[in-house]
Amino acid sequence: MDYYAVVGNPIAHSKSPTIHRLFAEQTGQALTYEALLAPLDGFEDMVRQFQARGGRGMNVTLPFKEQAWELADSCGPLADRARAVNTLIFTDDGRIRGANTDGLGLVQDLCVNCDLTLRARRLLIVGAGGAVRGVLAPLLEQHPAKLVIANRTPARAEQLAEDFADTGPIQACSFEALDGQRFDLIINGTAASLSGELPPLPAGIVGTETYCYDMAYGSEPTVFQRWAHTAGAAGTWDGLGMLVEQAAESFLLWRGVRPATAPVIRHLRGEVAA
Ligand code: NDP
Repeated sequence: MDYYAVVGNPIAHSKSPTIHRLFAEQTGQALTYEALLAPLDGFEDMVRQFQARGGRGMNVTLPFKEQAWELADSCGPLADRARAVNTLIFTDDGRIRGANTDGLGLVQDLCVNCDLTLRARRLLIVGAGGAVRGVLAPLLEQHPAKLVIANRTPARAEQLAEDFADTGPIQACSFEALDGQRFDLIINGTAASLSGELPPLPAGIVGTETYCYDMAYGSEPTVFQRWAHTAGAAGTWDGLGMLVEQAAESFLLWRGVRPATAPVIRHLRGEVAA
């Protein structure tokens, strides 16, 4: 039996144990997966203890993704680019490898589950925190016509645009300066939905050709999804699919097999709604 876990603070509401249990059942893998609450100053101790207990890998969530990147002995290019790690792999020689699967999970959800094309499309991503940093490179790899980042604190968006300038047509913009622009896809990567808030976006940026995606999810459409629907968006989604897809990428790194995600998304949707 192989041991895996997700570590974060808070962690009680994590869906990762359910997702990985379903993946393991589906693929016939013998593993356990638990949720571990690390004290805010105790992330590294928790990881080292789990590794010493024979753990094979961990997922890392808020607020430890940057610390996980620093802790890993080596990282994949997406993790290095994001300077954040959501997947740790403990190798047989005692080393720790880090990966970031958030961006691959988002792109998989957008392109496969939502059936969207990103090539040559006008993308807006709202927010400039850790989640947005993690998804920029995989989004730009899809060759959009442009990727605009807008954030409440504009300097953070400008910094991201500068950091990723060599990977594609990326630019920063204030919320006010969005007025008069139109987009094919708007991704809400802020934490606003978690508190039922809406970034102050001009309604005119949504047209009948615009799809809207919230990285947050809940039992009902988020306030951002409702706003987009009212503004006439062509379609809206929440981030539940991304959550399952990034988990599938972690599972693939650990176990060498990518589980089918559709039944797991369906199961989780029922659980979240209940
Ligand atoms: P961070 O705390 O790193 O960043 C938060 C971002 O949200 C900042 O850009 C911040 O702006 C902005 N923000 C917060 N509150 C508001 C508000 N009221 N109005 C406008 N902007 C606001 O969080 P993360 O980047 O880690 O997470 C962002 C979201 O992504 C969360 O909802 C999280 O649940 C979701 N997520 C989903 C995943 C999935 O698999 N579905 C995976 C990872 C994250 P400022 O810079 O001005 O403070």
